[in-house]
Amino acid sequence: MDSPSSPMADAIDIAPAVPDLPPLRDVIARHGLAAVKALGQHFLLDLNLTRRIARVASAELPGGLTEGTTIEIGPGPGGLTRALLIEGATTVVAVEKDARCVVALDELVAAFPGRLTVIQADALEVDVSALGPAPRRIVANLPYNVASRLLIGWLDAIVASRGTALVGMLLMFQKEVAERLAAAPRRKAYGRLSVAAQTVTTVAKAMTLPAAAFTPPPQVDSAVARLVPHASLPSAEQWAAVQDVTAAAFGQRRKMLRQSLQSLGADAGALLAAAGVPETARAEELDVAAFDRLASALRARRAGPR
Ligand code: SAM
Repeated sequence: MDSPSSPMADAIDIAPAVPDLPPLRDVIARHGLAAVKALGQHFLLDLNLTRRIARVASAELPGGLTEGTTIEIGPGPGGLTRALLIEGATTVVAVEKDARCVVALDELVAAFPGRLTVIQADALEVDVSALGPAPRRIVANLPYNVASRLLIGWLDAIVASRGTALVGMLLMFQKEVAERLAAAPRRKAYGRLSVAAQTVTTVAKAMTLPAAAFTPPPQVDSAVARLVPHASLPSAEQWAAVQDVTAAAFGQRRKMLRQSLQSLGADAGALLAAAGVPETARAEELDVAAFDRLASALRARRAGPR
């Protein structure tokens, strides 16, 4: 039988060594990191907050932070980066576009030897599957101006890789975008982004942050969303068809689908009948399963009679 150990001994055994790090405000001042609006720079300087986000990632993403690779997009001065490392991320690969921040992160690279790699690149052009061994997860306070485009790219990568690209994502968005990702049919926020995200992943809102939590504060509040890929993913062809159908349907969201789907170049009535959807329905009334059936019907029509 194991001998009982005191709580203090346990604490000493498992507490990770936290190196002495300069306050983030010093890092920003020393490296002249005045926020650049075009790069969506709104920094999180409160380590309690960033550690909370890192703990959610550790507890709620498959594989936690210890297996494979934790990818951070846009580390900036490194507030979330240091939190991820302190909370036990074994390997962090951070992709940052701003050369000033890349230089500022050198200290953090040195403070956590062998655990942090910083890559200067535009995340829109980076293949996340090439950033380190699987399982890979992304944890990021995203630049809001490109957040939706980045997410769609990662959903594409998950589908194309049959799920091996990423095991999960914990991402900070503008609150309104996070609400769109998780929205259910018939809600105002429900749209193309909701169907896309929910076709590939299970989405949950993990926490909300007021604008005042950021330096400088953005115009709107923010929210963190957790996205975990489904065990069963659509094929690349089905995923492309879902996006064609949602573009047509939500492109004219107030119209009935028998009208809005005409832009697909197929007989809209026949598509709707094949998918078991009433011709008079509108895009916002259909759940993700109905869009999936419509996409299957579209692919069958495009393939033509066999
Ligand atoms: N993670 C830091 C934090 O929480 O304090 C900074 C978050 S800030 C909202 C977004 C970061 O993304 C900035 O550091 C910005 O320079 C970076 N960024 C903006 N566009 C980028 C892009 N296309 N690729 C990589 N990084 C980008």
